[in-house]
Amino acid sequence: MKPLLAWHQSLWQQVLASWQQDHLAHALLLCGPQGMGKAQFARNLAETILCETGQACGKCKACNLFKAETHPDLLQVEIGEKSKIITVDQIRNFIQYCTLTSSYGGYQIAILNPAEAMNNNAANSLLKLLEEPPAKTLIMLISHQPMALNATIRSRCQRLDFSRPDKKLTLAWLQNQLSSTQDAQLLLNLSAQAPLAALSLAQDIKKRGELFQSLNQLVTKKEDPIEIAQQWNKHNPKQILEWMNSWIMDMIRYSLTANSNSINNKDSIKTLQNFAKQFDLQALFKLLDLQTEAYRLITAQTNIKAQGLLETIAIAWHKN
Ligand SMILES: [Zn+2]
Repeated sequence: MKPLLAWHQSLWQQVLASWQQDHLAHALLLCGPQGMGKAQFARNLAETILCETGQACGKCKACNLFKAETHPDLLQVEIGEKSKIITVDQIRNFIQYCTLTSSYGGYQIAILNPAEAMNNNAANSLLKLLEEPPAKTLIMLISHQPMALNATIRSRCQRLDFSRPDKKLTLAWLQNQLSSTQDAQLLLNLSAQAPLAALSLAQDIKKRGELFQSLNQLVTKKEDPIEIAQQWNKHNPKQILEWMNSWIMDMIRYSLTANSNSINNKDSIKTLQNFAKQFDLQALFKLLDLQTEAYRLITAQTNIKAQGLLETIAIAWHKN
């Protein structure tokens, strides 16, 4: 099994103790921001439960099947690479699987990730399964946004909350992964304190710097917004909008409070203060609306063309 992540330790001990005392619920909801390692936790638990010795020994037949991703008593359902939803067909398979008996006579485990990617029909079918849980089956739902889940589904699961990891542990872990010149605390603050997200941001930090530079060129009218939007569209638009929203929120907070402590992006306080002065509050809220709506469309629809949305946003930044 993969080594336990430092901030998983205490939750892991609790869950393992419940399992060993036969107190673990038949359905778990693992929730917290993306980048907390919830899926890894779920897989570690699955491996432990399926192992013939109950300890993820890494040597028994079950462990070998698990490593080869061919254990018949583990099903993982995720969104497809190009799809943004979990389809009703996927849920149908998931439910059918849960009602079978296990191949090796022990438990069977089904993991759904992320659960909020189900539509209403899929959620209703899943609810029926949760109301009459099959014996010797553990269902794990992973959710980055549990509030987006059907409330009844939430109430049928035992909740494992990953949203408030020990900050000392996450900071120490991240510092260990980074070079000494990188600011681990800043990266965590920019990633909802999620260490794996912060680590991935560290790899993207150059891209983020270029994006910020391009906003500067728009605000100072040194570049054409259509060309800038074309550059943006070469990157991942969802990621770009997440960064832009974080800067806009900082500008709005600074405009309202005139206090630089209200700025989260501590690496660009001065420039954000200057930016904020170039826009009135109404224009800032309009930018936030445009960006939030573009983000919603890009995350919710498969065939959306991001270029047009990004152009509208670039023009609004240019028009201060
Ligand atoms: Zn084993």
